[in-house]
Amino acid sequence: MHPKELLDRYQIEPKKSLGQNFLFDENVLWRIVEAAEVSSEDVVLEIGPGLGALTRLLAQTAVSVTAVELDDRLLPILEYELEPFTNVRLIHGDILEQDPARLFDQPYKVVANVPYYITGAILRHLLSARHKPTCMVLTVQKEVAERVTAVPPNMSLLAVSAQVYGPVQQVATLKAGAFWPRPDVDSAVIRLDITHQPADEALFFRVARAGFSQKRKQLHNNLRQLGLGKQEIEQILLAAGVDGRRRAETLSLEEWRRIVEAVGGKRP
Ligand code: SAM
Repeated sequence: MHPKELLDRYQIEPKKSLGQNFLFDENVLWRIVEAAEVSSEDVVLEIGPGLGALTRLLAQTAVSVTAVELDDRLLPILEYELEPFTNVRLIHGDILEQDPARLFDQPYKVVANVPYYITGAILRHLLSARHKPTCMVLTVQKEVAERVTAVPPNMSLLAVSAQVYGPVQQVATLKAGAFWPRPDVDSAVIRLDITHQPADEALFFRVARAGFSQKRKQLHNNLRQLGLGKQEIEQILLAAGVDGRRRAETLSLEEWRRIVEAVGGKRP
């Protein structure tokens, strides 16, 4: 059923403030499930099931689906629509307040058409979780997809923060008309595979944040934010084999890793 028809039946208006843009084309929804290579062995976490369109396909494919929805007005719809699927666990709450380690004992994948107003926060929350997903397939704004999949010399803090965990790729683009209500922007589906763990996660992010702190400044100036002296920074960059006059956007992940390792040696 078209989302408008379903919402009208329950006399509910979509909430823009909760990023409610529902996908309704079954082909598009299947493409998302396929991009995550969901199989009968997979445990899936869905963020914002909305009206349950994606949840239903996931339930048909995965061993179980845990779906976290913030909007209590949608719960009666979800309960009704998903009643035939005994492998769906519905949780009423904010995804940013859920600890995956408490939800799952086993490896899990994340598949979601996420609310765009918290895309960055969701990525940070799940990628820094104690129990990280093995893979995430997310529908995000096209502009966010471009930033997160960027490569040198156009890296962003978001790209470094995601790619440090493993490869990130854009797997599809979606026109605004694939959603109801129609969002103001086009969207894209991205896939992140979580295959790496930074040796010192907190230090990695301190260093990357410092490096990107002022867009126009050269790396050696930005790294002063770490509370290190000019000479120490020169030694770090020398040890890492990175020219301090470069800008953060031009560095590869390998170069960030070497800088973090050298900073770790100085224990700022
Ligand atoms: N999955 C549905 C689909 O594809 O049609 C709905 C996607 S819609 C873009 C985003 C959903 O996330 C909405 O149902 C919204 O209520 C829900 N949502 C918004 N903020 C949330 C949060 N902090 N935690 C969990 N769900 C949230």
